[in-house]
Amino acid sequence: MSGLDRDLSTDLEASERRNLRRRRVARETARFPHIDIEGKRRVNFAANDYLGLAGDDRVAEALSRGVSRWGAGAGAAHLLSGHTQAHEAFEEALANYLGTEAALLFSTGYMANLGVLGALAGRGDTIIADRLNHASLIDGARLSRAKLRRYAHADVQAAADRLEVARGRRLLVTDGVFSMDGDVAPLGALAEMSNDAGAVLMVDDAHGFGVLGERGRGSVAAAGLDACDVPVQVVTLGKALGVSGGAVGASRALIDTLVQRARTWIYTTAQPPALAEAMTQALAIAGEEEWRRTRLRELVARFHALADARGLPHTACQTPIQPVMVGASDAALWASRQLFERGFYVPAIRPPTVPAGKARLRLSFSALHTDQQLDALVEALGEVLGNG
Ligand SMILES: *Cc1c(COP(=O)(O)O)cnc(C)c1O
Repeated sequence: MSGLDRDLSTDLEASERRNLRRRRVARETARFPHIDIEGKRRVNFAANDYLGLAGDDRVAEALSRGVSRWGAGAGAAHLLSGHTQAHEAFEEALANYLGTEAALLFSTGYMANLGVLGALAGRGDTIIADRLNHASLIDGARLSRAKLRRYAHADVQAAADRLEVARGRRLLVTDGVFSMDGDVAPLGALAEMSNDAGAVLMVDDAHGFGVLGERGRGSVAAAGLDACDVPVQVVTLGKALGVSGGAVGASRALIDTLVQRARTWIYTTAQPPALAEAMTQALAIAGEEEWRRTRLRELVARFHALADARGLPHTACQTPIQPVMVGASDAALWASRQLFERGFYVPAIRPPTVPAGKARLRLSFSALHTDQQLDALVEALGEVLGNG
């Protein structure tokens, strides 16, 4: 063993002892909402496939047609020769859907956040961020070299205080729906405050897009806001849309600026055009099939009622992300294993993804889950968490 490997092994063993070591599980099939692991079939409550589109035949067929037309890959970055009509058609459809002048497709949501923050903020500027924002927003802020000021979760006054003393261009950045908590940011109040202060509000709507608001337009629309109130909207295409990628919806001037300056867009190979074809199809379905959002709301209401009946803790959140707080990492891991034994795949979310002492089970619902699956899950949760 090399010196490096010895050091690394020591660190890995330390995380193991603290119940913080992460491991991958390779699933064996694509039978959502089931998941097959080591030959065992479980009901999957650990996906962000909210609308159930990742396995949709129409989306898969659009992908196949895209591959027939364009081949497997884009072959180059967008500014070389990788940009295609398939990418443009998706961007146009997305801009229409979001109600923005234009949109720009990135390979992932992570890269979209890094690209936007780096393009809009630099030395001398200030990024004001909710403390529970997604890691990609934190990393984007750090990479941008702007000053990063974090405020207490969802605390509009704390954000205003930081804005008041901030210098340079000021970007106020928040998740629309918080990824590990499922709560919705106070977007109306944040928009009013940031507009009054002359700052720019950016919303990362990875978990609201496709799920909240009229036709699934997202948390900005659900809050009754538009592109004037929220000049920068980031969405991800691997969650409710079930495909892969990220995108920014904004004014034409902002999108054109990203084309000049967003390094995670310029210096990387364009997404395969076939994926863009699949996403255009997925976006059309997401907009049209309202029953998927209705179904999600039904599942959330049913979960709250069942949990109340059993005395299980739950949040008031109305989104398909429903955390069940456990506290200690070892207890969360144990509960997750017990649920697996009882037929359910529910991950334990531990630090540093969530703050120390706030380990939890993160349930995420999909339009494809049945009432029976949910009922059985709550029963198992009751047994495992000792309220059964
Ligand atoms: C998942 C997620 C991202 C990253 O999106 P990817 O397309 O998976 O890279 C960004 N922000 C939030 C809030 C997310 O939950």
